[in-house]
Amino acid sequence: MGLEAALPVDSFLTTQLNKVINWSRRSALWPMPFATACCGIELMATATSRYDLARFGAEVFRFSPRQADLLIVAGRISIKMLPVLQRIYLQMTEPKWVISMGACASTGGVFDTYAVVQGVDQYLPVDVYVPGCPPRPEMLIEGIMAIQKIIDGENIPYDGDGKRLPLELAIQPTYEPAAQPMDVSVGAT
Ligand code: SF4
Repeated sequence: MGLEAALPVDSFLTTQLNKVINWSRRSALWPMPFATACCGIELMATATSRYDLARFGAEVFRFSPRQADLLIVAGRISIKMLPVLQRIYLQMTEPKWVISMGACASTGGVFDTYAVVQGVDQYLPVDVYVPGCPPRPEMLIEGIMAIQKIIDGENIPYDGDGKRLPLELAIQPTYEPAAQPMDVSVGAT
């Protein structure tokens, strides 16, 4: 349940108020990082001065789920960790969002074993998939911006029972890979 529950039914004032609420929400996403492996390093880089997640109002990483509304799963999740991840998700504030960052979080990656979850979307409602191994910080920012656009447009999808549906957006790579340096070789004299 969100702030909207306290508002009167549709009126001019409600519409304007909703715009302000959505603007505040999208300008102050508070991420809850669940970083278990190498993707976590890129996640940390996203908050540094070079990539500056603060430009999008989402740099306040919270390690308390009750103060966070954006869960970023970065890295492989083992079956043993899964109940902890689910509990963290349940404790987060509404409306809440989930980003699955990297191949391991989204599919298990190269870890095709019985001990690793083969995609967190089997257990959590994932809104945005950020592909890559690891994804670059720019791509994570792209994923956060996709969520901001949905909040802005007030397109938060609900099912018939008022339960929020996952967005299931997949981010496409937006950078050109640089060419390998040609004149560097190991043991060159
Ligand atoms: S997707 Fe690649 S970089 Fe990310 S956790 Fe898995 S192995 Fe590491």
